[in-house]
Amino acid sequence: LQAVKNTGEDLLVAKQVLMQFGGLKAINQVDLRIKRGTIHGLIGPNGSGKSTMMNVLTGIYVPTAGSIEFEGRSVVGRTSSDIALSGIARTFQNVQLFGEMTALQNVQVGLHHTFDSNFADIALATPRSRREEAAATQRGMGLLAFVGLADLADEQARNLPYGKQRLLEIARALALDPQLLLLDEPAAGLTAPDIKELVSIIRKIRDHGITVILIEHHMDVVMSICDTVSVLDFGQKIAEGQPAEVQANEKVIEAYLGGTAT
Ligand code: ADP
Ligand code: MG
Repeated sequence: LQAVKNTGEDLLVAKQVLMQFGGLKAINQVDLRIKRGTIHGLIGPNGSGKSTMMNVLTGIYVPTAGSIEFEGRSVVGRTSSDIALSGIARTFQNVQLFGEMTALQNVQVGLHHTFDSNFADIALATPRSRREEAAATQRGMGLLAFVGLADLADEQARNLPYGKQRLLEIARALALDPQLLLLDEPAAGLTAPDIKELVSIIRKIRDHGITVILIEHHMDVVMSICDTVSVLDFGQKIAEGQPAEVQANEKVIEAYLGGTAT
């Protein structure tokens, strides 16, 4: 994981992003400014456009209009893998792991870009490929340890409890050595102790200098770890600010928090 650098500067700047599906404006003229070194919450009711925003930022969708710059360079029109390699990693709202592969192998999938061996090296088990394999094991184990899964390295992913699968997905995303990590509802379906562990891991990620965009419905999680929160409703940004400000905002209470504010 990389060292903290230039905390506080803009890492990602999205301007007037529009994502239209037929007649539906899933994202409607949204500006987003993500400061390096922060945990930036993205909240809002179901269907408000949060996951779509993530898909636009990671190149799964090309926005209908608007600009997105990451470290000063446009991401619009680039492929997902190119964007990932340039430093934006993510997890999905629904866990996406290779169930038959071990935890370690799942993390190593994320590591492949960091090695130089070509197919012939690997097929012939050249010294270079064997050296790299040892390094990949070591790095993969380091990442598993980071999320508390070192003991489960050899378990098939599908056999891990749900909360651990979520953490494994995070470890795999971290294998890309990202500057920015996007987490789409990482606490969904987790038990209270698992959420506590997740929160401490997200903090640790931020402390390693990785900027985080966090989509989350658990308001206690959002309020306790986010530096800034943006609120979407029907594809539009209706509020933004520090967690306490946002929580007290009339529009936010009406659209989203209602009686459920904690
Ligand atoms: P959230 O993550 O905030 O719950 P989404 O971003 O998943 O919301 O969805 C926002 C809106 O965009 C919803 O109305 C959803 O049905 C619609 N939507 C998302 N993806 C697509 C798609 N690929 N095609 C058509 N409509 C979509
Ligand atoms: Mg979603």
